[in-house]
Amino acid sequence: MRYTSALDRKIRKGKRKLSRAIKGSKRRERLRRAIARIEAKQRDIRRDFNQKLAARLVRENSVVVLEDLNVSGMMKNRKLARAISRAGWRQIRAMCEAKSGMIADREVRTINRWEPTSQTCSCCGYRWGKLDLSVRSVLCLNCGAEHDRDVNAGANILAAGLADPNGQALSSVRPQSGAVACLSTHQEAV
Ligand SMILES: [Zn+2]
Repeated sequence: MRYTSALDRKIRKGKRKLSRAIKGSKRRERLRRAIARIEAKQRDIRRDFNQKLAARLVRENSVVVLEDLNVSGMMKNRKLARAISRAGWRQIRAMCEAKSGMIADREVRTINRWEPTSQTCSCCGYRWGKLDLSVRSVLCLNCGAEHDRDVNAGANILAAGLADPNGQALSSVRPQSGAVACLSTHQEAV
């Protein structure tokens, strides 16, 4: 969402100006209002984008599996904070759940955040352990499969969601094809 990034820059620039404006001045008040307007516009754009994404995910798939991430923990990582808050995962989740209630035979499942979705091979189940975020692809030493980090994590999220609506059993199931979508939240955290 480049448009939002441009607005982000405007907001940051505006806040820098605001910090230099004299307290109680008319200029400061003007700046404050201008920033609030841009922030409101940005919220609308995000909400609209998320609404469309959620609608499409739920419409086109019978089961949507989301991973419940430790968002507040991830927000402490400065590099990740901006990308995570921009993606608005809580909002997307709430919207998906609302949509699934409106269409027959639709289901949204959330797997718990402690699943080692990026630490496990989605082909053979081998667990290679924690990877630094900079590692984007993995070659499984057990089965030889080459994975994109996010695609692999997504496959694991999906498998876990299909195995158990409450998301407990990752290791016992392999990904299945079918009318299912899965969002790897890892992807947004780059
Ligand atoms: Zn493997």
